[in-house]
Amino acid sequence: MPQIKKILILGGGFGGINVLKSIQNKFKNEPNVRISIVSKDNYFLYTPMLPQVSSGLIHPSDITIPIRKLCKQAEFYQATISSIDLEQKLVTITRTFDGKVRALDYDYLIIALGSSTNFFDYKNIEKHAFVIKTVEDAIAIHDQIIHMLESAAQTSDVDFKKKIMTFTVVGAGFAGVETMGEINYLVRESVKNFYPSIEKKNISMNLVASEEFILPELGPKLGKDAGKYLRKAGVNVITNTKAVDAGEDFVQLDNGKKIPCMTLIWAAGITIDPVVSSLKCKHSTSGKLIVGMYLRLTEYENVFALGDCALITNPSTGQAYPPTAQNSIHQSTTVANNLFFMITGKSKLKEFSFESKGMMTTLGRRVAIAVVYGLHCRGSLAWLIWRTYYLYRLPMLEKRFQVATSWIADLLFKRDLTFVGKIKKKSLTKVHIKSNISSIKDLFKDF
Ligand SMILES: Cc1cc2nc3c(=O)[nH]c(=O)nc-3n(C[C@H](O)[C@H](O)[C@H](O)COP(=O)(O)OP(=O)(O)OC[C@H]3O[C@@H](n4cnc5c(N)ncnc54)[C@H](O)[C@@H]3O)c2cc1C
Repeated sequence: MPQIKKILILGGGFGGINVLKSIQNKFKNEPNVRISIVSKDNYFLYTPMLPQVSSGLIHPSDITIPIRKLCKQAEFYQATISSIDLEQKLVTITRTFDGKVRALDYDYLIIALGSSTNFFDYKNIEKHAFVIKTVEDAIAIHDQIIHMLESAAQTSDVDFKKKIMTFTVVGAGFAGVETMGEINYLVRESVKNFYPSIEKKNISMNLVASEEFILPELGPKLGKDAGKYLRKAGVNVITNTKAVDAGEDFVQLDNGKKIPCMTLIWAAGITIDPVVSSLKCKHSTSGKLIVGMYLRLTEYENVFALGDCALITNPSTGQAYPPTAQNSIHQSTTVANNLFFMITGKSKLKEFSFESKGMMTTLGRRVAIAVVYGLHCRGSLAWLIWRTYYLYRLPMLEKRFQVATSWIADLLFKRDLTFVGKIKKKSLTKVHIKSNISSIKDLFKDF
């Protein structure tokens, strides 16, 4: 009897599901290969469109794909990975639905556990900020915006109204800029159409960037252009500045300025989960797994790592590949190829090398900025390219259809302002309790 080879994939994000798809194809006719995948959510999240959930442009279910629908010959475990023992070839998982712990053994391991938000030890920021990483985060931001609009519409205290209508995003990479572009449009359009008691001059949108220009991934020229677009759309772009503290109703910047503000969104950095950063192998200073050009750990050739949790050096620049979905997808092809070689002896080991053909980001409605094959592109054309490319890359036809339908609906109708409030995080009572009712007349005033 030939021995069964067990492949275990950790993480159902861009890296994990693309390795899964490739190896299912490669091992279609190999009955002695058993594939398993573990992830804490039962769906794959298409993050490039997550900011559009925060602005209510698309629905959460448009960009979440059940992992089971991608499992043609793989077993799926919805569980949290609690520990990885590289010596014993064992992974301990805690099942999401009942908290039971179980161990999975493997012959080949693929680590694609992504990253989490880095607050750089700013405890108050961690306590008060919204983040944009998961579907729940995006829904919470959307709810917060509607909650702020409703609150501002019903207060006559102008200073308080301004505080409620101030939204600050810290971090000017893809996630921060796209989120700012989306919420800026949602707030301004909603005020124009539905909230006559809020004046335009009460709205303040701030984007805080630690570098001289935003979107450093696109280079200084496009980064500066993107900043100009956002300023024209009413965003106050604050460069060369960091946020260092926050409270219920303010954000403190390192230039001494304190922004009165009820909504802070933190998109300023990533860190690596301790389950990965504590593994006994080589790490970068940020805890990423250092892999060689075959994307294997140097100490354990049966273990691959890719995506945001891996540090992979670009041989032509000597710099690490940035943590992007695009890089994770390309790395998954190399991992699948090398795994196939190691198990079957067919094909040969391939080194990972990838030069990006382009990068792009949206800045709001009908505006994007892109660099494709070295050509710089801005405005509606870039926006059209962005939409076509990202719609095409979204796995599953039914989800593409759903997103396209949401986009068309948005061109025809005004945004939905329903406040469900299920994941509400902030209560205004903490910052604005005024006991000013001294006569029956006061009950007719707003507060
Ligand atoms: C808002 C936003 C917008 C973005 N926009 C773009 C863009 O436009 N273009 C671009 O190229 N990139 C973009 N990115 C970056 C991109 O999402 C990441 O680079 C990419 O997701 C990395 O892929 P990955 O497989 O390494 O990690 P992920 O896709 O994050 O997947 C990690 C998986 O591991 C699971 N997991 C983690 N820890 C555990 C655990 N302990 N137990 C069980 N499961 C676990 C997670 O649930 C997840 O399924 C964006 C990111 C965000 C947050």
